[in-house]
Amino acid sequence: MKIPKEYGGLGFSQINYNRAIALVASHCGSTAVLLSAHQSIGVPQPLKLFGTPEQKKKYLPLFSKGAVSAFALTEPEVGSDPAKMGTTATPVENGDYYLINGQKLWCTNGTIADILVVMAKTPPKIVNGKEKTQITAFIVEKNMPGFKIVHRCSFMGLKGIQNGLLSFENVKVPKENIIWGLGQGLKLALITLNTGRLTVPAACTAMAKKSLIIARDWCNKRVQWGAPIGKHEAIGTKIAMMSAMTFAMDSVTWLSSGLVDRGGADVRLEAAMAKLFCTEAAWRIADDTVQIRGGRGYETADSLKARGEEPIPAERFLRDCRINLIIEGTSEIMRLFIAREAMDPHLRRIFPIMDPKTPLGQKLKMVAQAFGFYVFWFPGQWLYFSGNKSSKVSSVLKKHLHFIETASHKLARELFLAMAKYQQGLEKRQQVLARFVNIGTDLFAMSAACSHAAYLLEKNPSEKSPEELADLFCRETRLRIRSEFRCQRENDDKMIYRVGRNMLEGKYKWLEEGIIK
Ligand SMILES: Cc1cc2nc3c(=O)[nH]c(=O)nc-3n(C[C@H](O)[C@H](O)[C@H](O)COP(=O)(O)OP(=O)(O)OC[C@H]3O[C@@H](n4cnc5c(N)ncnc54)[C@H](O)[C@@H]3O)c2cc1C
Repeated sequence: MKIPKEYGGLGFSQINYNRAIALVASHCGSTAVLLSAHQSIGVPQPLKLFGTPEQKKKYLPLFSKGAVSAFALTEPEVGSDPAKMGTTATPVENGDYYLINGQKLWCTNGTIADILVVMAKTPPKIVNGKEKTQITAFIVEKNMPGFKIVHRCSFMGLKGIQNGLLSFENVKVPKENIIWGLGQGLKLALITLNTGRLTVPAACTAMAKKSLIIARDWCNKRVQWGAPIGKHEAIGTKIAMMSAMTFAMDSVTWLSSGLVDRGGADVRLEAAMAKLFCTEAAWRIADDTVQIRGGRGYETADSLKARGEEPIPAERFLRDCRINLIIEGTSEIMRLFIAREAMDPHLRRIFPIMDPKTPLGQKLKMVAQAFGFYVFWFPGQWLYFSGNKSSKVSSVLKKHLHFIETASHKLARELFLAMAKYQQGLEKRQQVLARFVNIGTDLFAMSAACSHAAYLLEKNPSEKSPEELADLFCRETRLRIRSEFRCQRENDDKMIYRVGRNMLEGKYKWLEEGIIK
């Protein structure tokens, strides 16, 4: 789908590709993952971005004809921290070939792939007298001797995926199969994952939409205590929030995909926030759908069918969507990544000043530059001209836009003050950072929901329902944001961390009595 037409593909934009994935994901998560591992992160994507004309000419047409690909980064000992990988690629025959040795774990499509992109360590480079690890990306073909599928993994959900533990034993790969050059492999993997990550929100949004249909039908049909269950406030509340949340997910997904298609924008932050927001929202929605369906939500579609009921796969959706909080960057890693990106402009100004290796003259110059910047920037977070002046936006949405604007400035101020307070230690204060990231991500989702609603309202002024969904989402999110800001001052972070450490050190072992261990 994403391969350019000149190489026999359909040349889909990010939006159209995500539309196709969403369509598939609304019916079968496993098929969506097969397509996504192949096209979002598998060989076609890094080749499209970084391949040589020869590599593109040789490989891309094969994918258009049906060859399957996979992305092999994770290993048994490294998941979130791939820089520490153990797989090696040793140059032989004057560097004309490389011998790949190691294992790759949980490689989606790995068991059926014809062509894989494999990240491996090549010999380190010496920079300023110090060894610098080099990770390089290789195109590996399944019939290269030494490549073996060790095991097909199975999981709590996505029962249909082909995913495996792969081993590489002296797999001889020509240097022409290196993508983007020696030492560029980790960067390539991370860049590939940046846009690859946008497929996950599309799939999650599709699952949320399907869940809404399931939940609405059941809420209207199932009568308990003399009324359809949707009329009982506890269930009606779930349905309302699921609808508002799905609208926000839809808005975030298509805004982020649109940014990629528009080009010229660095979408790392938006892609990470879209992934974080949509995966966590989809999990809650799938969980609520199971709850709304009651016992039938927990029963498998096969079992429902066997006893004559409609085979609705609510439990499968729940199992299938759980993985989205783990793959392509876990929620915890997404939060750290977003926090680092948000702090980066400050760190670049401040850290060299604190570095004892920076010469005094340079330090003084940097202090003057930083002072010159912050003397305007910091007051500017209180005193600013509002950008929220569009007359096209309804008064309902306008008040949310006003909140987004003031809360964004407050977030900028508080993040800066936290950096001043904790300095380098802030990177380790993950609870503080997580609250900042949650606020930022919620503000992003509110912006997306408001602009989506404004667009739909402009197209059809008599249809107020998008505005209603955006309004509800924003009202609830504002409560959450206020509470997150409050928690930055009043929290139990220290105690929570201490209890966690105590648990790890075995201080609560008495709590584990009375069970089969
Ligand atoms: C079904 C499935 C499909 C997959 N497909 C692929 C694929 O196609 N290609 C591929 O290369 N990989 C694939 N993976 C691997 C997936 O990307 C990893 O599971 C993921 O990156 C997390 O790594 P890990 O499981 O080793 O967890 P770990 O990195 O060991 O992390 C365990 C826990 O610790 C947390 N954690 C780790 N470091 C930190 C930190 N610094 N701060 C706070 N918390 C932290 C994590 O968030 C997580 O909750 C797949 C996995 C599964 C299960």
